[in-house]
Amino acid sequence: MNKKKIVVALGGNALGKNPKEQLELVKNTAKPIVDLIDAGNEVIIAHGNGPQVGMINLGMETSSKSEAKTPEMPFPECGAMSQGYIGYHLQNAIREELLNRDMNIPVATVVTQVIVNKNDPAFENPTKPIGAFYTEEEAKKLEAKKGYNIKEDAGRGYRRVVPSPMPIDVAEKETVRTLVDKGHIVITVGGGGIPVVEEGNSLVGVPAVIDKDFASEKIAEILDADYLIILTAVEKVAINFGKENEEWLEKISVEEAETYIEQGHFAPGSMLPKIQAALKFANSKEGRKALITSLEKAAYGIEGRTGTLISM
Ligand code: ADP
Ligand code: MG
Repeated sequence: MNKKKIVVALGGNALGKNPKEQLELVKNTAKPIVDLIDAGNEVIIAHGNGPQVGMINLGMETSSKSEAKTPEMPFPECGAMSQGYIGYHLQNAIREELLNRDMNIPVATVVTQVIVNKNDPAFENPTKPIGAFYTEEEAKKLEAKKGYNIKEDAGRGYRRVVPSPMPIDVAEKETVRTLVDKGHIVITVGGGGIPVVEEGNSLVGVPAVIDKDFASEKIAEILDADYLIILTAVEKVAINFGKENEEWLEKISVEEAETYIEQGHFAPGSMLPKIQAALKFANSKEGRKALITSLEKAAYGIEGRTGTLISM
């Protein structure tokens, strides 16, 4: 295989739900990543943070209301904490796997801000549930007191929802590029990046969650990557997913992907953003390809032996 620049986006199953689980799981996660590096590729790593930022946000919120009275922690700060905590585990696991193979390559996490448009229509319609569940009464109080948007979440109670705007640019892109060009392994746009809006010379954090699939696509374009690899819980993408006539896809064109989206084959919030990110990347420049496969099958996928490949 000739040398490729690859952005790998890790899903929830690469990290687990709590620190103990994460510390174990990242050892497995590091293997397919180091396989790619071992094969001579330049690899950039992105990841989600749904459960982690939810956990941090809930912990800080509970603690601020308890006897301890810790300070209120704004949501963008919780996102920054999640990047640091996940990055710490990931960079150590990757470092260790590299050293086990006698490879001496520096690995680092960059606290990354992703710029969003303050006029993004997503701000008018918050959709992403985060943090604790509330009763209707608590929800009403919080809405009045803090101006949160609170919605009923699938019969399980009331939850705060935040907007999910599209990424426009990556604030630390030149730093990431320099490190990648120097041969460092970089973990970036964690959790989709800390969402910020530009106000003059300031970058101001906003309570929102950028989809990690879209943020990964953005950094892949910025770094002029050859591949965007989205590692998730399924080996391939299906049409008629979960139905009798389910069909697993191997290779699809941008046009086919668009048709399947229109036909409603992909669940919003899970597979849909992956397909949208994959087709955006494949369509952005001749030769760029996107692969969606599972963490376990990543090595086979990269050899072209499994997964769903989206290309022009
Ligand atoms: P991640 O944490 O990796 O982003 P998600 O749970 O958000 O993972 O999305 C992956 C999930 O999407 C799969 O585990 C699968 O259950 C679901 N899914 C929805 N529609 C499809 C489809 N058409 N083909 C395959 N998987 C699908
Ligand atoms: Mg997801």
